[in-house]
Amino acid sequence: MKIRIAGVIKESIVDGPGIRFVIFTQGCPFNCPGCHNPQTHDFEGGKLVDTETVIADIKSQKMSKGLTISGGEPLMQAEACLEIVKSVKPFLKDIIVYTGFTWEALMERLPDNPALKELLTQINYLIDGPYRENERDLSLKFRGSRNQRIIDVAPSLKVGQIVLKEFS
Ligand code: SF4
Repeated sequence: MKIRIAGVIKESIVDGPGIRFVIFTQGCPFNCPGCHNPQTHDFEGGKLVDTETVIADIKSQKMSKGLTISGGEPLMQAEACLEIVKSVKPFLKDIIVYTGFTWEALMERLPDNPALKELLTQINYLIDGPYRENERDLSLKFRGSRNQRIIDVAPSLKVGQIVLKEFS
């Protein structure tokens, strides 16, 4: 399978707790004013790569204990993200996905999107919602604006409402 990416960072300390491998997917429909990664918006931009290549790259990293999938909008490529996540999950401490969709919008999409549904069962944390300049807050951990939430996915799916996570 192919995934269109803007790039990867093999050892990041700013995209979640600890040292993490980060995939920046290419293509985003949200166009948030003030977005820090406008080069990732074009769905024809970036580069198409084999998911197997990305998987091998993640497995070869000995320092990175977590995976973050950011963008762009990762959930526009839910199938490819799912394939990667399922392959590397046994080797990693946790997996974070950023999305411009809100949790509520995703819940409405689940019945028509089995890959998205399965992806949510495989990841640990979802950081949701578009970046909003008027809610920008530099004191937030791993988020740009106050509307964005760090969601603990498994308990949220279990109880049917959002369970928030705070990273220490
Ligand atoms: S959802 Fe993220 S990548 Fe997309 S425009 Fe908004 S801030 Fe940028």
